[in-house]
Amino acid sequence: MLACLDLEGVLLPEIWIKFAEKTGIEELKLTTRDIPDYDELMIGRLAILKKHNLKLKDIQKVINTLAPLDGAYDFLQWLKSEFQVLILSDTFYEFAQPLMKKLDYPTLFCHKLITDDAGNIISYKLRQNDQKTKAVTALQGLNFQVISAGDSYNDTGMLQQADAGILFCPPERVVQEFPQFPVARNYDEFRMEFTKAKRDLESSN
Ligand SMILES: [Mg+2]
Repeated sequence: MLACLDLEGVLLPEIWIKFAEKTGIEELKLTTRDIPDYDELMIGRLAILKKHNLKLKDIQKVINTLAPLDGAYDFLQWLKSEFQVLILSDTFYEFAQPLMKKLDYPTLFCHKLITDDAGNIISYKLRQNDQKTKAVTALQGLNFQVISAGDSYNDTGMLQQADAGILFCPPERVVQEFPQFPVARNYDEFRMEFTKAKRDLESSN
């Protein structure tokens, strides 16, 4: 049995939003909730970075000052004692890497930024579309049972595909739209939901 976990909003704060707060660049607070088209959102973000002359290393310097959510480290340690854990995220390696040390280097599958020789971010490369759902499907193809957990719309595909799904501190709209998933609102509840999902799957095997 494997646990597949989202990263931002579950273990880490939203990186773009924290970066916007730290730098005071308000326009970078827009998310897929404001601009649903991901490509349009990313092209806009890259243009803003360019306008402010921010190179990848400047961004990484700011990201390096961020910390995991309170309790995230201990929760992840516990989860690793119960399951093999895979983190499936729609962030970029270049952003997440400075923070992985603070989580004791979990296995992370995410996307990639493309930089030019001067270190400007010029584009990005998704591993594949809907990689979270496809990763869960692939793991099930290897005869693993999967429990998935995440906080938002981009996780609902992998939650539906998994053998069990859990929402962690989701926006109310997601709770309304996906009433089939249990909701954990803190790490104690999160542990309980994982424990319960594991027990239910084991008893049905
Ligand atoms: Mg998230």
